Amino acid sequence: MAKAKLPPVETGLRGKCPQCGEGTLFKGFLTFADRCEACHADFTIEDAGDGPTVIVIFLVGIFIVPMALGFSMVVNAPMWVTFIIWIPIIIIVSLFLLRLMRGVMFNLQWKHDAREVTSSDIKRG
Ligand SMILES: [Zn+2]
Repeated sequence: MAKAKLPPVETGLRGKCPQCGEGTLFKGFLTFADRCEACHADFTIEDAGDGPTVIVIFLVGIFIVPMALGFSMVVNAPMWVTFIIWIPIIIIVSLFLLRLMRGVMFNLQWKHDAREVTSSDIKRG
């Protein structure tokens, strides 16, 4: 894996290849492509795990949930109205943020050559 010279956060937020910055990372909304369409970099090594999800949970919990509670208190709306309005907003914002964070995490993984440690990495002396 070649070291990326591109800024990983910028290319990640744009959903672009960490190696060339041209090809897109995604073949679906959240599904990674197998290879870069421009430089053929291998994306099958993507292994962000739960990292992007945890970041999204923190962001939504810090910013969106207080907005929903504030709406409920200011408008004095019944709880079911608050749920009908804010649950779709929370789901849409979470999916959008998840795509952005998956891109950023993979670009950071690529830049730092992060991967799972295996027994072959342990030097025996
Ligand atoms: Zn590429």
